[in-house]
Amino acid sequence: MTGEQVDSALVRRWLSATADAVVAEREQLTQLDAAIGDGDHGVNMSRGMTAVREALAGSSPGAPGADLVLAGRTLISKVGGASGPLYGVALRGAGRCLGEGACTGPAELAAALRDGLDAIRRLGGAAPGDKTMVDAWLPAVVALDAAVTAGRPLAEAASAAAAAAEDGMRATVPLRARKGRASYLGERSEGHQDPGATSTALLFRALAGVVGEPAG
Ligand code: ADP
Ligand code: MG
Repeated sequence: MTGEQVDSALVRRWLSATADAVVAEREQLTQLDAAIGDGDHGVNMSRGMTAVREALAGSSPGAPGADLVLAGRTLISKVGGASGPLYGVALRGAGRCLGEGACTGPAELAAALRDGLDAIRRLGGAAPGDKTMVDAWLPAVVALDAAVTAGRPLAEAASAAAAAAEDGMRATVPLRARKGRASYLGERSEGHQDPGATSTALLFRALAGVVGEPAG
């Protein structure tokens, strides 16, 4: 039986699992970005999420919102590529939405991640279908919200979000990039999976992993 509580410990496990995932998939993220970008997405995400893990290890667990704000700020300051500020504002925005409480629930988490997506869209200006991380974030937050609203357990809702992110990631393959470096390639960006949508799928799969496992 896993709890429905979203606390600092859970958020820390999530971000640590995301760091593990992007480090493990660093080469794949690099190769995807080499095909339609400049080949640094694996390095950017590994460096950024490793810095997030270190920043969290150096701060006391408290509020899940504060952890996400710290994680977001760390990404903004440590990652040079487009993805650092974009993930940074997303996590920071989600954290601000959660506020100062020590513990929150699935509905608040879903709302916070939607705020994170909104922050990505405000900063980057990408619309759905532009072949960016938005194409994985959007279906993920829609699925999470729908499952939570329907009263599904958090573990199930997070699994639905991860599956939706992965579908969105795969659906970027035929698209033509309209934002970011890949857009410079025009139609030559078609036929390649977007790197940022791929790392977003890792983020949501990591969430599903940590809410699906017993705490402690
Ligand atoms: P850079 O493009 O600066 O080298 P990265 O390689 O780390 O940065 O990240 C590239 C990813 O960032 C892309 O695959 C895409 O998903 C995402 N991205 C780039 N620009 C935008 C944007 N304007 N809005 C949303 N996502 C974007
Ligand atoms: Mg790049």
